[in-house]
Amino acid sequence: MEDFLAVFRDRCKRHGLAFTHQRQVIYQALLAAKDHPTPEAIYDIVRERIPSISLGTVYKNIKTFLDVDMLCEVSLHHGSLRLDANLHAHHHLVCRICRSITDLDESEMEPARFTGKFPRGFRVQRQNVEIIGICAPCAQKQSSKKQSSN
Ligand SMILES: [Zn+2]
Ligand SMILES: [Zn+2]
Repeated sequence: MEDFLAVFRDRCKRHGLAFTHQRQVIYQALLAAKDHPTPEAIYDIVRERIPSISLGTVYKNIKTFLDVDMLCEVSLHHGSLRLDANLHAHHHLVCRICRSITDLDESEMEPARFTGKFPRGFRVQRQNVEIIGICAPCAQKQSSKKQSSN
């Protein structure tokens, strides 16, 4: 297991960000969450450790992490902001029913190759594939619903 503090310090240094206790607690919550949480979910976790913190402060720090690329927005078109502190290249499995987002290691897929040209002037920063489907718990709920209606 990676040492959280070492990862945080290293990323702050690499991305030119000052190291504060507040940031540390917020980033720890982001790193620990594997479900691509919303800022509100992070706020609920951080509040347990810093009861006086406001949602605005959490938002501001998340915005800072996004600005310096210590954090990614999972998708820009899901309606709500979902956060990802996993900076290693990976893809996402997205459930269309409960909107859960699960990491899929890059090695599980052949790299996507582009055969055409990007629109002129478009600069690629990262590329990942979103696989849309229905997660196991949702699929189970659906099939048990079908069974009970029969
Ligand atoms: Zn689901
Ligand atoms: Zn992810």
